[in-house]
This record gives sequence, C-alpha cells and structure tokens, in this order.
Amino acid sequence: MPTMGALHAGHLGLVRRARLANDYVVVSIFVNPLQFGQQADLDGYPRDFQSDVELLDQVGCDMVFTGTLLGEGGFFPEATVREDIREVAPGASALGLEGDFRIGHFEGVATIVRRLFEVTSPTRAYLGEKDYQQTLVVRDLASRLGAAGPEIIICEIAREESGVARSSRNARLSGDGFLQASALSRALSEGCRLWRAEGERDPAALETCIKAALEGPRDGIESSALQIDYVAVRDPDLWTPERPAALASKAVALVAAEVEGVRLIDNMRLDVACEQQPLKLALRDSECAAVLAQAPAKINPWLEVLAKREDGFHEVDLTMLCIDLIDHLRVSWIAPESSGIDNATPQIQLRVTGPAATLDVPLDAGNSVWRAAQLALDAHPGTLPAGGLSIELYKCIPSRAGLGGGSSDAAAALCATVRLLSLVGNGAGELDGADAQVHALAEIGSDCAFFLAATETGFGRCTGRGERVEALRGGTANLRSLQLVVPSVECGTGAVYGGLQLQGSPRTYSASSNFNRLLEPALTAFPELSNLREELAKDGQGEWEMSGSGSSLYREFAAPIWFDLEHAVVPKVEGARYLGCHRPTGFGARVIAEVCAPDRLPAEIGEEFA
Ligand code: AMP
Repeated sequence: MPTMGALHAGHLGLVRRARLANDYVVVSIFVNPLQFGQQADLDGYPRDFQSDVELLDQVGCDMVFTGTLLGEGGFFPEATVREDIREVAPGASALGLEGDFRIGHFEGVATIVRRLFEVTSPTRAYLGEKDYQQTLVVRDLASRLGAAGPEIIICEIAREESGVARSSRNARLSGDGFLQASALSRALSEGCRLWRAEGERDPAALETCIKAALEGPRDGIESSALQIDYVAVRDPDLWTPERPAALASKAVALVAAEVEGVRLIDNMRLDVACEQQPLKLALRDSECAAVLAQAPAKINPWLEVLAKREDGFHEVDLTMLCIDLIDHLRVSWIAPESSGIDNATPQIQLRVTGPAATLDVPLDAGNSVWRAAQLALDAHPGTLPAGGLSIELYKCIPSRAGLGGGSSDAAAALCATVRLLSLVGNGAGELDGADAQVHALAEIGSDCAFFLAATETGFGRCTGRGERVEALRGGTANLRSLQLVVPSVECGTGAVYGGLQLQGSPRTYSASSNFNRLLEPALTAFPELSNLREELAKDGQGEWEMSGSGSSLYREFAAPIWFDLEHAVVPKVEGARYLGCHRPTGFGARVIAEVCAPDRLPAEIGEEFA
C-alpha cells in the first residue's frame, strides 16, 4: 500500500482491508518528490513518521518501507541525480483533470509505484478511490506488467462526519477552512441528487449544478475563498476527455479546488448511493409525497440444480450477487385534485424510461412493478387515500437477460410503496420479512425474495425454488469487479431447463469458484450464445460464466476499465446488446430517499400526520 504518510483513518481502513485478505501487509511512507510540481507544496506536505509507524503497528502492518529518493538507501539507488531516474509513462488515463493541473504528477506516481511493485512484488495493491484518476493510472500500470503486476483493490473514500474526504492535507486547514472544504462533498451530493431524483443525464448540466453548489453562498462563509480547478462528470468506463452527450447508466463526478492555498480533491459516483449524505428529494408540483428506490441487477456466481420438483419447478442451490447496474424507481402519491382521478380507489400509473426501456414493456398488471405496488396496496387496504400512485421506472438493466431486473424492480416497488403508505397513509409500516407480501411477491418471481432479504448485503444463497434466502456478507472473493456482456440472443428459461440432464450427484457449493449448471444446456440450445462466448474468450483473459438461465455472460476482471485505454474506444462486440464493467453493490433492493409535504395532504390525513 503506497502512501505519503501523515496517516489518517482513510489510510488505516486500507490497511485493515489488506490485513483481512493477505498474509503480509507492507506499507510505504514516502513523500515522493517526483509527483510534486511545486516545491512549496512538497515542503509543506505534513510529515509525522513516528506517529505513522505507531498507527500502522496498531492495525497489523508487517513492514514499513521508507527511504530517500536517490543514492544508497534510496528508492532509486542507481541514480545520483533526479535526471538519472528512468521515468515511467502513465498511459492515457493520466490525460486531463489532474494530469492538466499537475503537470508531471502522474509520471511521478507511475515511476515510484512501479519501483515499489518491482521491489515488493505484491500480490495485491490497495488504493483509495479518493484519488480516482490515480487508481486508473495504477491499474493501467499493473495491467501493463501483466502476470508480474498485482491485483489492484480500490477502497471507498473515508470521510469525516461533515462529509469532507479525509486527507493528509486537511491538517493544513484552519477551522474555517475545514468548514469551507465541506462544500466539495456537498456539491458532489447535489450532483447525486440531480442524477437520481431528477434523472439528469447530461454531463454538462450535472457539472453546472455541482459548480453552482460549490460557488454558491454558504452560511457564514465567503464563497470566493474557494478556488475551483475543475468540476468534471465522466463515464467511469469511458475515460475520455471528450464529454459524451448523455451518460447512460454510470457516472463519476470529480472536483478539485483550493481552500486556504491547500489543494483538495474529491469525487463521487453519481449512480451508486453515497451513504453519508442523506439524499434531499424535492417534490414535484402535483405530488404530496414521494419515495425513491434502487433496484440492482444480480448475477449468479454459483448455480446448481438439485432436482426437478413435482410442481414443474426445480430445486436449486445458488448464490446471487447484486452488481452496480441499477434501475431507479420513483413512487409518488398524487392527490385526487391533481391526478384527475375522482373515484375512491387509488390508480397506479406506470411510466418506464431509461436506456434499457423497451417498447413492448406492459404498463399495467402485466408488469411485475405494477403488481408489486398493487400487492402493497392490497395488503394495507384503505391506507392510501384516493388519488393516484405514480411509478416512474428508469431502466438500466437489460430485460430477459438473466440479470433479475424485473424481480429486483418488483422488490423495490414493494418496499417503496409500503414506505409511501407509511408516509401518507395509516397502519402500513416498515416491510417485514415474514410478511405475507414477501411470500406473495415470490409468486411474481422467485428471485424477488432475494432482493428483499439481501437489502443490506446484496449477496445471498438461495434454495428451494430460489425463494428461501440466506443473506450473506462479504460478497465473493473472486468477483470484486467483473465484465458483463449481454448477448443479443435471449435464452428462454423453458428451452434451457428443457435441455438439462440431471445425472450424478450435484456439486457442493463453493464460495471461491463460479459454476452454472445451466451453461451447457444454454450453449447447446443457443449456438449464437456459444459462438459469442468463444469469440469473447479469444482475448485470453479468462472464461466467461453465465448468469441464471442466460444469456448474460460475466467474468472476473482485475481492471475496471473495459476498453483499451490507449485508444479509449469501447470495442464493438458483434451480437451483444450491452457491455459493461461492474462491481458488487453490497445492497439489494432498497429505499434511498423519501419526502412528504404534510401541508399538501388533504385535511383529514394532514391532521393525522401532524
Ligand atoms: P496518500 O498518502 O495521500 O498518497 O494516500 C495513500 C493511499 O491512501 C492512496 O491510495 C489514497 O487514495 C488513499 N487514501 C487517501 N485518503 C483516503 C480516504 N479519505 N479514503 C480512502 N482512501 C484514501
């Protein structure tokens, strides 16, 4: 784990994480002059070696690496002057943003990190997502080293309670400066809000919103004291300086700004919830209350079929892992005067948009989201006052692909509707796992139960028809980030199960390997799938597994960047309708925000609400 010392809780989190998965943990502490453009910045960088070593000792670090740059005992003993050091070119991910503002910075990072890799030959290297672009540069470096390069593990950003990303540089801020620094994470959260609550996908609009939030006046603080270097919204998989016209399903927002002469950076994935900042949700004109929910896709790292049952279904033993390919739901209640509906029964209006929305999607009881919402209403009769239930579903998960999108959407719709009822109605409370609704939901799709049961882990083992779920923690060791391909060919579940021959004893579940009993029958029944799978494996980076009954294919992938960084193009894959690179979410279907305006509720509920 490379560091520049002045260690804080963010660094120690990385060490703890490394401690869990490795026999030996080695940390380097070195304020690397190669990556500093300005002497004053290098001189002012905080240093406290003794205290760092004590902290590292407490968290179980085995060895600390330190030294000078040049000469004996140095990182580059072969060099007597700086110019003798052979510089490592950082690759295309160093272009733009930090690369523009800190000329030579990534050359310095790549050069020292490469030397650290050469000397320690680590199995894994741990980096913080805080330095987002740096993680790309180091991943690129590791992949260029091929088998000699370590696996790169990226750890999430540790923040102060105020939301400020922890950084050694924070020590140089005054109390007032620290307050100002919190503007960075708040502005990024504002981008998150726009992305999730308003469905904004235009990177320019998102950047403008974040910039405005950074520049805007804040309580008692002069905004001009903060100088912005850049605000950028990018597709994390398509790291090109040119902005795409619209972002489909993923986005990362990055900012750099100076406060009291201290340069701070921060970033946030807009599509993945940022736990630390509660999402502020604004009501639209016609709404009295609204709830936002997320519905992640799943893959099946393990899928064994045990036996055919009398009811025609199969007994299975499988695991489900939620990944950050996410559908978004907004469920809101519209009072009768705005909805134009005057009968006493709440009506459900469903609207489906998003990159994976298809024209043939039903917008009534034929849609599992509609049925799940109805189920919540039926289970709590009379709780929702007259008016309309509006459900907007923003689809990013391709349908009929073995990714569980429909089931996840239904599970999210159920949670969201129940939550809405608890806001505006009476009697309906939180979703109870033992509730009859959960069982009824299993009738909508066997996978629904998983998305509800695994709401806090995003990982679980399912037996029976798939409806008996045990939530598991920690995800699978061999799927930290994965490539996903959704072939154009759709595999009918019936056709795949039809070709299944259950002979011999079933395989015993293994948490460390991937297996899918349905792969062979799917490949036999769908030659297009088999051809595509062979074609994809020609790059020599590993075999492709299938999710569910297909046709989605996935494999473990050490680098998060799908495309060739040197050329920054997404490869065209003939016969595929979606390509992506994903990570486990750590959550299942869940509500992420709610809002209710008591003054807009009809008098009788308003009183009760008050
Ligand atoms: P530095 O000492 O700033 O070079 O950081 C050493 C490593 O710790 C880098 O991989 C950083 O990304 C990581 N790191 C620094 N701050 C944080 C933070 N707040 N949360 C998570 N990782 C961090």
